[in-house]
Amino acid sequence: MTPLSHNKLRVLVTGGAGFLGSHLCERLLAEENDVICLDNLFTGRRENVSHLLDNRRFELLRHDVIEPILLEVDQIYNLACPASPIHYQYNPVKTVKTSVMGMINMLGLAKRVRARILQASTSEVYGNPQVHPQPEEYWGNVNTIGIRSCYDEGKRIAETLMMDYHRQNNVDTRIARIFNTYGPRMLENDGRVVSNFIVQALRGDEITIYGTGEQTRSFCYVDDLVEALIRLMNVEGVHDPVNLGNPGEFTIKDLADEVAHGCGVAVRTRYLPLPEDDPQQRRPDITRAEKLLGWSPKIPLREGLKPTIAYFAKQLKVSKGKFAPSDQGFSLK
Ligand code: NAD
Ligand code: UDP
Repeated sequence: MTPLSHNKLRVLVTGGAGFLGSHLCERLLAEENDVICLDNLFTGRRENVSHLLDNRRFELLRHDVIEPILLEVDQIYNLACPASPIHYQYNPVKTVKTSVMGMINMLGLAKRVRARILQASTSEVYGNPQVHPQPEEYWGNVNTIGIRSCYDEGKRIAETLMMDYHRQNNVDTRIARIFNTYGPRMLENDGRVVSNFIVQALRGDEITIYGTGEQTRSFCYVDDLVEALIRLMNVEGVHDPVNLGNPGEFTIKDLADEVAHGCGVAVRTRYLPLPEDDPQQRRPDITRAEKLLGWSPKIPLREGLKPTIAYFAKQLKVSKGKFAPSDQGFSLK
């Protein structure tokens, strides 16, 4: 293999054909790194990276992280894992295997080729938090036996593995605790709240609010998140977890209003039961990210919704007449 010039790296992105992974691959290529996108295409799509396939620095590899693999790389972003509750609950045993065996395989690879590795962890490690907003020191409030546990506990043991490989084998690890992130290339049917609400509003359907709609989430636009992931990967010596997200906190009812406003439609809602173990509140304390990475999100919800709505309008082929956005400044990605 030919050596790369000084600051160009060989980067592996597992889950690279998914929502976050495809944006990350794009950004890494723009910085002229060599990128291997590894994905089993469970919730990822070839179309998410089809525009990258002609780039000679890019390679798409269909592979499942629960099987070992040997690749010569400098950095590993481990994003492989379904992220929406519908998808991670579809085959919960596989979700646990993906987080645990996938993490062991990627850490084994990092150890063997001396690569730096970043794990895409999640705010779900805090469960239904009783401390608000959530700082990294908070240990969380997680049910071990509920329907969300396959994801939450899988991600918690993945963090444990990261710390143990670091302490025991000196693997150069980074842990990103990602809070709800949205943007173009989310799947229109994956059940997450932002994509659900936009698709419903664009189709003229009622917006489905689970529970009272008083529960809160904090929504980060994908470009802000990708910037944070790259900064975390490239900062020296940060092995403890770092929260990455937008501290702007919204009730789910507020989000419905924002989405309807962005789509230029009147809000029509339907109330459905709250799913089991659905966290009541969530907001990141990002003091650590601000201090260590010099990072804070730049894109408020209303701005980030514009390109996201435009993306879904294009996917759904909503006609111009029906889709009357309240603001036209869209950049289609
Ligand atoms: P996504 O479902 O779009 O992407 C996950 C990708 O992983 C998909 O391309 C999927 O095909 C792939 N994948 C799943 N299982 C795999 C396996 N066994 N082997 C290989 N590939 C596999 O979800 P996303 O929103 O892009 O999330 C990416 C990562 O970030 C996930 O690890 C998720 O847990 C984490 N995360 C995301 C959010 C968010 O709000 N988007 C929040 C917290 C954490
Ligand atoms: N939610 C909702 N309607 C939907 C989808 C989700 O009210 O159509 C709620 C869900 O109950 C939760 C919040 O929105 O309280 C965020 O859900 P999502 O699945 O996006 O993420 P997570 O619960 O994993 O943060």
